[in-house]
Amino acid sequence: AQGVITAEMVDDVARKHFPPCMRNLYDRLKRDHHLKHFGRLQLGLFLKGIGLPLDEAIVFWRRMYGATMSDDKFNKEYKYNIRHSYGQEGKRTNYPPKSCQQILTQNQPGTQDSHGCPFRHFSPDNLSAFLSSTYPQIDRGSSDMKEILDSVKSTHYHVACTRVFELTHGIKKGEGLGGSESVAHPNKWTDRSRELER
Ligand code: SF4
Repeated sequence: AQGVITAEMVDDVARKHFPPCMRNLYDRLKRDHHLKHFGRLQLGLFLKGIGLPLDEAIVFWRRMYGATMSDDKFNKEYKYNIRHSYGQEGKRTNYPPKSCQQILTQNQPGTQDSHGCPFRHFSPDNLSAFLSSTYPQIDRGSSDMKEILDSVKSTHYHVACTRVFELTHGIKKGEGLGGSESVAHPNKWTDRSRELER
């Protein structure tokens, strides 16, 4: 992580530097003012990892839920969980952000859920619609898209995700996050993306 991120900054960082799994969660949260438990957990721990401190996390989630939730409900039911994921409640475990491996294999999302990995958990149609609408660099009918879908078909999700990183950052194929490193952690995507911007 590079310095502190404020609640105010999250939207800009999301548009420029979030990997597909987190972009999906964030965009849904923004649209619906709501995320189910595992989605909140996946996005919340990721945000902690990119440098959103606890007090800013509380501001961020309060704003995202907006008028759909009363202050009373937020304070009673949600604030505790946010504090808990920062190690400030209960057993005071400071939970680390989830790796791709954990996101791919744990808590399989149902149809109403937004957590998980788009490469692993979306249908090919939904994946190409999501990628082309989220990233202008990837056209729906392009050979790049075909290549991404082929990697997904052969269950090489990290290869597909690394290719999206390259295409959206103007990086040569095979370079990945640098030195041919492929995406194995959503936070690494964001850290590297922010480094490249500087
Ligand atoms: Fe997120 Fe990892 Fe899936 Fe990429 S491969 S979308 S970083 S879980």
